[in-house]
Amino acid sequence: MTKQGTYDVVVVGAGFGGLCSAALLTHYGYKTLVVEKLPFVGGRASSVSYKGFTLPTGALYVETHGAVDKLFQEVGAAFPVRDFPIQLCFRMGGKDYPMPLKGGLKTVISHFASEAETARIMGAIRRAFTWQEPSSSISIRDWFRQYTQNDKVLAIFRGMCNYQCVNFSDMPAAEFIRQLKFAGTAGADPRGFRAFMEELVKVIKAKGGDVWTGCRVKRILAADEVARGVVVNMAGEGETEIRTKVVVSDVGPHGTVELTGSEHFEKGYLKEVKERVRPLAYMCLEIASERPLVDFRGVVVVPEGRRQMTMMTTTLVYPEYAPPGKHLLQAWAAPESSFLPLDTKKELDLMVQDVREAIPGFDRDAEILHASYWQKEWPMYRALPGRLGQKTSVENLYNVGDGVMPLVPLGLPGCAASARIVVDDIKQRVKPAA
Ligand SMILES: Cc1cc2nc3c(=O)[nH]c(=O)nc-3n(C[C@H](O)[C@H](O)[C@H](O)COP(=O)(O)OP(=O)(O)OC[C@H]3O[C@@H](n4cnc5c(N)ncnc54)[C@H](O)[C@@H]3O)c2cc1C
Repeated sequence: MTKQGTYDVVVVGAGFGGLCSAALLTHYGYKTLVVEKLPFVGGRASSVSYKGFTLPTGALYVETHGAVDKLFQEVGAAFPVRDFPIQLCFRMGGKDYPMPLKGGLKTVISHFASEAETARIMGAIRRAFTWQEPSSSISIRDWFRQYTQNDKVLAIFRGMCNYQCVNFSDMPAAEFIRQLKFAGTAGADPRGFRAFMEELVKVIKAKGGDVWTGCRVKRILAADEVARGVVVNMAGEGETEIRTKVVVSDVGPHGTVELTGSEHFEKGYLKEVKERVRPLAYMCLEIASERPLVDFRGVVVVPEGRRQMTMMTTTLVYPEYAPPGKHLLQAWAAPESSFLPLDTKKELDLMVQDVREAIPGFDRDAEILHASYWQKEWPMYRALPGRLGQKTSVENLYNVGDGVMPLVPLGLPGCAASARIVVDDIKQRVKPAA
């Protein structure tokens, strides 16, 4: 069955990048269809219920007072996000070192370094902020090693790197500094990320768009290097071809090429996708207890473990995420390499050992609810920012999402920014049918 000309734009995938694109497009008068293969929206920024707990499918927090809430405001979506305190505390050698909100980094470093060493390191960071970003061709670990060999100080930066969910030795120095500059406020929807994503769906539908869940895009159609539509597979209804002017793909550049067929793309573009779009691996533990396992209203960084790890008793800020009388601790860690395939058993064992050592009474009081690994098609990020543009070599076929983030804060703000770039381009090139 073919549906001709029903939609101006089809968006493949209802992750944050796809939903932001569709919300902006419908807002600016484009008849838009979002097709999502899962039974729910949000992709790696959604949530599921498990034993009465609200567990994330990926993202835990969204930037507030930045590009994301601006986009929600622009399209008229509710932004029911409760800010959470961005307070860090370093747990090192059995002691806690809270980081003051002002002058915090210097204070934490000076616990372990002489005045002269602290001044040298802070001077290097200041230069990177105000004079020139460090090179992208060395890791932030190697960049800091130029200024200190102090294991404790290096551990502090290793832990901070985990806040950006990238392994210390894989994080380009320039990207680390950029993300430090961007650091702002964040929060989460107390109802969970799925409800948060539904706020965008409400807007899309109210403005005449459609969101089909449980419906897989089987192919993106292209002919003569121009996108022509998609073929979808609706459960029970077989295949339907939908002709459209523009296709926006949220399945990542590799997925876009696969769905379209590599024969439709220019060789140079395929080379860039292959070499630059490298998904990053990550892992998380969701842990239940009756007492807060970490009694700190913020993020506790455990930088000296087998793995760089961060943890937080989320229910101290969002008690709604657990049944009454229970707490939820979330621990997240980068594996040995962000880019190599995960040895899941080895990585989990090491992470559990780290959590056990970091939390007194863990074996007595904690229950691991869920362990999750993020890699390949369902990674932490599909690529580091700035690696690939949003346009493909096929005309009117765009990528959005974290495979094509510009140089902005990582994760959800990056997805929102990619959507805005794409929609601005569509607005200049294609008129809505209506
Ligand atoms: C563990 C973890 C923690 C994170 N924490 C944070 C955080 O705290 N803050 C932050 O800002 N970011 C965080 N991130 C990053 C953030 O979650 C992602 O960058 C973002 O959700 C990616 O969105 P996306 O739209 O690019 O892709 P996705 O969320 O992957 O969406 C793609 C969608 O396409 C669908 N799809 C795929 N193939 C098809 C097909 N053939 N047909 C139809 N649909 C299809 C998928 O089902 C999916 O829903 C985290 C990520 C992870 C994994």
